Amino acid sequence: MNDQKLEPGLYIVATPIGNLSDLSPRAAMVLGAADVIAVEDTRVTARLLQHVGSRRPMTPYHDHNAERVRPGLVARMATEAVALVSDAGTPLISDPGYKLVRDARAAGVTVTTIPGPSAAIAALTLAGLPTDRFAFHGFLPAKPGARAAAIAEAGAFRGTLVFYESGPRLGATLAALADGLGERDAAVAREISKRFEETVTGTLAELAVRYAELEPKGEIVIVVGPPGEAPPAAEEEVEAALRDALARLPAAKAAGEVAKRFGADRKALYARAMQIKDEAK
Ligand code: SAM
Repeated sequence: MNDQKLEPGLYIVATPIGNLSDLSPRAAMVLGAADVIAVEDTRVTARLLQHVGSRRPMTPYHDHNAERVRPGLVARMATEAVALVSDAGTPLISDPGYKLVRDARAAGVTVTTIPGPSAAIAALTLAGLPTDRFAFHGFLPAKPGARAAAIAEAGAFRGTLVFYESGPRLGATLAALADGLGERDAAVAREISKRFEETVTGTLAELAVRYAELEPKGEIVIVVGPPGEAPPAAEEEVEAALRDALARLPAAKAAGEVAKRFGADRKALYARAMQIKDEAK
């Protein structure tokens, strides 16, 4: 498949995360027509190119040579179509590529994306957890201290969290998540789109127990649901905040500020603010 001539530029090509049938026809077309394909691992991408009947040349682009080869690749984009793929899924997502896109843009090169599979999005569609707001954290640090700090930071977000993980580390990571985030619903999605695909749901504590001894094979995404609703603020807390705001602001503004912060009724707070002012006379 090499009859289509591509315009010069950079083409970001998403590839399957397991099932080769998930490669889009447009991705196959670009892989068959690019002047060169920048790849993480030539052996991995060779199989994909064979699958689509492409004989286009590959050039390695990975964490260890990126700094050195990037300027040359960007220079080629002025006159050639350069495709970027990673071993699996969408390039740039816990994979190399963002600096290549950045430098291509700086050089005035046209950047085109061929969207497709990504394990993070696929796992979100399997987990049955809220998807209106989510944060992707890639791989957590391996060292316990750094991992706990990263989990605490992630936990401040009031939405769903997505982490990449490997089988040998799954048990320890789930235990650390249960420790740092408390009782939250979660899902472990494994081998998505492959033969042994499996999604297990439960609370973080339940999943931590399940995977404490079991070391599952394959590739894994952990999805953690948002924290439960915070308990309504105590009356004394709202009263104290209102008094504090009144020391700085006129009554209407103080009521507005406190209403917004606690999700409380503005009119009632304004009435209370006027009362406090009267008492102080
Ligand atoms: N760029 C890729 C993407 O868009 O998903 C991710 C690359 S990252 C180096 C590899 C990690 O993605 C794996 O360790 C695993 O956490 C996750 N992953 C990739 N394929 C997967 C699959 N089929 N099922 C579950 N997780 C997968």
